Amino acid sequence: MIPGSFSYHRPATLAEAVNLLVDLGDEARPLAGGHSLVPMMKLRLATPGHLIDLHGVTGLKGIRREGNAIVIGAMTTQHELLGSEDIARSLPILHEAALLIADPQVRYRGTIGGNVANGDPGNDMPALMMTLGASYKLEGPSGARELAALDFYQGAYFTALEPGEILTSVSVPVPAAGHGYAYEKLKRKVGDYATAAAAVVLTMAGGKVATCEIGLTNLHETPLLASDAAKAVIGTSLDAAALKQAAEAAKAIMSPAGDARGPVEYRKHVGGIMVMRALQRAAERAG
Ligand SMILES: Cc1cc2nc3c(=O)[nH]c(=O)nc-3n(C[C@H](O)[C@H](O)[C@H](O)COP(=O)(O)OP(=O)(O)OC[C@H]3O[C@@H](n4cnc5c(N)ncnc54)[C@H](O)[C@@H]3O)c2cc1C
Repeated sequence: MIPGSFSYHRPATLAEAVNLLVDLGDEARPLAGGHSLVPMMKLRLATPGHLIDLHGVTGLKGIRREGNAIVIGAMTTQHELLGSEDIARSLPILHEAALLIADPQVRYRGTIGGNVANGDPGNDMPALMMTLGASYKLEGPSGARELAALDFYQGAYFTALEPGEILTSVSVPVPAAGHGYAYEKLKRKVGDYATAAAAVVLTMAGGKVATCEIGLTNLHETPLLASDAAKAVIGTSLDAAALKQAAEAAKAIMSPAGDARGPVEYRKHVGGIMVMRALQRAAERAG
């Protein structure tokens, strides 16, 4: 199919982009890499009358340090993330997960801002952002505000973005030196979205888990932070009983859709396995 007709706008500044979104209202959508929006338009699942292309807007690209956080401009592509030595060194889980997104063609165009703002439960970055305690900078007609990734996702394709707001950057606190990390993603084939995926960031002390965060992708209508699962392993040496308890606690909050990737029970089952694998691999990597 081909998309419905639309008008194309290419603002040069953020203020111009926000004004266009406000003036054109519900009919307008920001366009970033287009690798989620354009396929939806081709299927006529989205029929925006106006596309506001963010590629001409200055100041939305780049990766920089701000204190103990790494700030990533919304229009930074997944390919650019993969090329950043700072990300590979300080946020290796982001590097690992970006490599599991689609294929190089998609990663050349797809942006971090589009991935986290989209609200698709299948996107990989949102659960990671929750796991890492990241926050999003949103700028709109009433000015700028910062919102925790944890508070951003409200339902499938529903987020806390207010009319006219644009997500301008993502701020990710750098985890402790020597932390362990892993992103485990089960997919049907290379380039597919997750059937189930789990992100783990932890620290170990004296052979026991000292701190732990666990995020889940595509196992609910929003990304999830599995806090009870993380609590189940803190203070343990990640023995078989602790791993099983974490998997069960994670499964208790999963409610994936039954779809072409498998029925609900299967997806929850493999979701639990992703949690256990990610915990084990993260612990092996912890310094
Ligand atoms: C074949 C294929 C396989 C894929 N596999 C995966 C996968 O495994 N994992 C994964 O995570 N993704 C996957 N994707 C999606 C890909 O990562 C997209 O690039 C990403 O989801 C959206 O980023 P984008 O820059 O392309 O955004 P766009 O498609 O341009 O926009 C997506 C949505 O976000 C809004 N938006 C974009 N930027 C902003 C902003 N700065 N502020 C406010 N709203 C904004 C748009 O209006 C739109 O509603 C796949 C895509 C394809 C085509």
